[in-house]
Amino acid sequence: MKILSSKNSAISSSMTLAITAKAKQLKQQGVDVVSFGAGEPDFNTPENIRTAACERITAGGIGYTEASGLPALKAAICEKLKTDNGLDYKPSQIVVSTGAKQSLFNTLQALCNPGDEVILPSPYWVSYYELIKLADAVPVIVETSAGSGFKPTAEDIESAVSEKTKAIILNSPNNPTGAVYDKALLEAIGAVAEKHDLYILSDEIYEKLIYGETHTSIASLSPDLYARTIVINGMSKAYAMTGWRIGYTASSEAIAKIMGNIQSHATSNPNTIAQYASIEALTGPQDTIEVMRKAFDERRLEMVKRIEAIPMLDCVVPKGAFYVMVDISKCIGKTFAGKVISNSMDFSAALLDDEKVAVIPGIAFNADRYVRLSYATSMENIIEGIDRIGAFCSKL
Ligand code: PMP
Ligand code: GLU
Repeated sequence: MKILSSKNSAISSSMTLAITAKAKQLKQQGVDVVSFGAGEPDFNTPENIRTAACERITAGGIGYTEASGLPALKAAICEKLKTDNGLDYKPSQIVVSTGAKQSLFNTLQALCNPGDEVILPSPYWVSYYELIKLADAVPVIVETSAGSGFKPTAEDIESAVSEKTKAIILNSPNNPTGAVYDKALLEAIGAVAEKHDLYILSDEIYEKLIYGETHTSIASLSPDLYARTIVINGMSKAYAMTGWRIGYTASSEAIAKIMGNIQSHATSNPNTIAQYASIEALTGPQDTIEVMRKAFDERRLEMVKRIEAIPMLDCVVPKGAFYVMVDISKCIGKTFAGKVISNSMDFSAALLDDEKVAVIPGIAFNADRYVRLSYATSMENIIEGIDRIGAFCSKL
């Protein structure tokens, strides 16, 4: 048999999805697992949104829509971007996709030529790295550390720029670190993008889940930044709609056209029922967002307090999203059940095996001295799960 695609054979599977699925499977088998894996709200999708979907199913009219999304949904997205982010877009600049993941895929496909470099601050969300490779481009990592709250400086970004650099990926609030980039930092990074003529992919999917800081969309800072930024957002996190699979981009018309064309062949329109439900999400009452945000905030503080009480662990207080990066450096080199814990995979595997707690190894985010815990889970799980992690650490 001839060899399979070399490029695609080199793509790894998503560790965040794999571990979340494994924890769910163990639970179904009756194992008492506490999962901190899932990067998805544990709340139900708000009732008005579910009702809108049911009404659409009853009414019918669930055929294909325009490949790049329903005009009425694009109009609702434009309205949202204006109200929340101070951004003026026409519906022709919006592409609605099957989750923000497809939006990111489309964007990188639309921008990159083989060998182009894309700057990626690290720790980074697992899929960016592979999505850059899928676009035949090369990820160029900019390391950040806990000491700087996992935020790069504009100088760090600039030192990674080469003649081949095409774009920078920004993700604030950040998955996995919870870092939030303030206006001054975004202006400084924006100046680097302007100086070197770079595109900016601004993944703002966690914009509503922010604690004591303000979200700024880099595209709103100047007409030049507006022109070179592709805003990526979606329904999954703010509206607890992960399974509905609706994300979107806002960009120049030229980029939107390429993305719409790609999508018209790859998947056609995103799910029609979910698109109608998303119109209700964006235009209906918004109060459930605040209810969920407050609950996440309480869980965040509880989780951080409990982690800080475990002598073997450290963490930086996250300012957004729903994750805590836990520094396991003090556990590395210790022995558990006769085996040395050499890295984040060893730690996570032993923890799951021994105490039945699922966490995401930091290696998924290029941070092998960390594990990521999601606090999109109940307070009871947080208390029980961190107790178990504490018990595990004391056995090392
Ligand atoms: N960006 C980030 C930073 C994420 O954490 C996620 C989570 N899945 C996504 C994009 C994609 O979300 P979705 O495809 O569910 O819209
Ligand atoms: N983004 C979430 C996470 O990081 C969901 C899983 C995924 O899409 O990777 O856990």
